[in-house]
Amino acid sequence: MNAYQHPETNPLVSRDTRWREELRERMSTRERTSLPRVEMPEIPSEYRVKCNDEVNQGLSIEQAVLEARRCLDCPDPGCMKGCPVANHIPAFIKNVERRHFAEALEVLSLTTVLPAVCGRVCPQEKQCEAGCIYNKMKKPPVAIGNLERFVADFNREVSRQEGYGPVVPTVSKIASPFFGGIRIAVIGSGPSGLAFAGDMAKRGYDVTVFEALDRLGGVLKYGIPEFCLPKDVVNAEIARVAELGVKFVKNTCVGITMGFDELQEQGFKGIFIATGAGKPRFMGIPGENLPGVMTANEYLIRYNAKNTDDIYGQNVMTLRRKRVAVIGAGNTAMDAVRAALRLGAEKAMIVYRRSASEMPAREEEVRHAREEGVEFLTLHNPVEYLADENGTLCAMRLQRMELGEPDESGRRSPIEIPGAVETVDVDLVVVCVGYLPNPPEQLPDQLRSRQGKIKVDDESGKSSRPSIYAGGDIVRGAATVILAMGDGRRAAKAMSEAFEEIISNTTLG
Ligand SMILES: Cc1cc2nc3c(=O)[nH]c(=O)nc-3n(C[C@H](O)[C@H](O)[C@H](O)COP(=O)(O)OP(=O)(O)OC[C@H]3O[C@@H](n4cnc5c(N)ncnc54)[C@H](O)[C@@H]3O)c2cc1C
Ligand code: SF4
Repeated sequence: MNAYQHPETNPLVSRDTRWREELRERMSTRERTSLPRVEMPEIPSEYRVKCNDEVNQGLSIEQAVLEARRCLDCPDPGCMKGCPVANHIPAFIKNVERRHFAEALEVLSLTTVLPAVCGRVCPQEKQCEAGCIYNKMKKPPVAIGNLERFVADFNREVSRQEGYGPVVPTVSKIASPFFGGIRIAVIGSGPSGLAFAGDMAKRGYDVTVFEALDRLGGVLKYGIPEFCLPKDVVNAEIARVAELGVKFVKNTCVGITMGFDELQEQGFKGIFIATGAGKPRFMGIPGENLPGVMTANEYLIRYNAKNTDDIYGQNVMTLRRKRVAVIGAGNTAMDAVRAALRLGAEKAMIVYRRSASEMPAREEEVRHAREEGVEFLTLHNPVEYLADENGTLCAMRLQRMELGEPDESGRRSPIEIPGAVETVDVDLVVVCVGYLPNPPEQLPDQLRSRQGKIKVDDESGKSSRPSIYAGGDIVRGAATVILAMGDGRRAAKAMSEAFEEIISNTTLG
């Protein structure tokens, strides 16, 4: 029998245990809801722009326990409905309240392999925290993301201090000999590939992740900067996935270094494609090819390399006394503009064609950018980049916009104000207007959509080839860490069920 214990049937998450009843009785709802939300301690903006240290400093034990008390342990928790990986939110938070931090991590580990990452970069305000009952009381929701981060960080620190390897909770180790020997290949080591790999390894499959680059983690490593997501945090979570038995092969670009047929020859019976959306999108305006105009990829890969002291780190960028404009207002744009300040830029601007309320970046990122002195040129759209006598970028022409009717995304469309064009001096432009999917070479044509994505069934992640599944940005287009992870988890469940069916049919036959 498959020993993998489905999270829903795990006693670790049951609300009816004695200890949870006792905790609920210990404080009244009125007492809990009168506690103010504990705010995340942060490095002051005037100091943090001079360094690359993580801005959010994490909750102390006492702060975490205090915040955990606010959670009402709801019988029908709205928070869980908003979590794409279905974290057992009240179960882990109540473990924090009773100071059982290792159990809190065990609970989280049932559903996520990246709690320290998600606790830092997920847009909780649009997901779990948006579903928290406190919103109905017009009070700030329980700080679920900050508590998730606390649990992961606390356990990582304890394991470091006490000298043992990555903390792998016992429940996560339950592998079934049932699937032992079935080889599964994962293409891409970003959040989607990691979530899929972790869940398959827990079920007992023999999983190998192939990564094109020389480092693991996808955008978590080469996109999101250290001041939002320290690389040692990502490394520690990847080490936990490796502890589950997942093997990693770096510097292998499937479709180029190694073909799909080779994967089959090596005995891989299932393939999960999670190659992300790494192709930069351009606006197609005059001057986009000038020296001084960069894509977010070129710029952030260099920035992150500089801060990881590897061979690429020789290519140190400095923007001292430079004026930098970042085009777009998503998370990538906020990271890029805040990185510019840390590289010494004299002026760092966001240029965005809609208004502030339509900006897609996480609220916290926008707040941090404002505090750090970023200028926001909202309702402005670049129409041309201009060169000086040496052919290098020196200015940009910006069209003023106003908002019209909502478009298909529900956001009000920007409309040009006739004749309202201004010229602004600039030394570097970073274009962050989105990414396109990055399918592997040699992928069968029938699996590709017209937009370059991989076509799969929404629920299972299964493609029209029964052994090939896909998820994350390669299926959705540029999205979020947690949506990519949710895809990985659903595909793992579906692929495993397909193998179970094949095996039980073979046994019966
Ligand atoms: C700068 C930046 C900041 C962001 N900030 C946030 C944030 O704050 N919060 C948030 O939720 N989301 C954020 N995102 C989005 C988020 O990072 C992505 O949605 C998420 O990483 C997608 O995960 P993925 O696993 O699908 O792909 P990726 O993370 O892109 O990983 C894909 C991996 O596949 C590898 N690969 C590609 N082709 C091949 C091949 N042929 N063979 C082998 N390997 C291959 C790539 O090298 C890469 O490592 C940000 C994105 C960027 C670029
Ligand atoms: S909805 Fe809010 S209060 Fe209720 S269980 Fe979830 S986090 Fe706790």
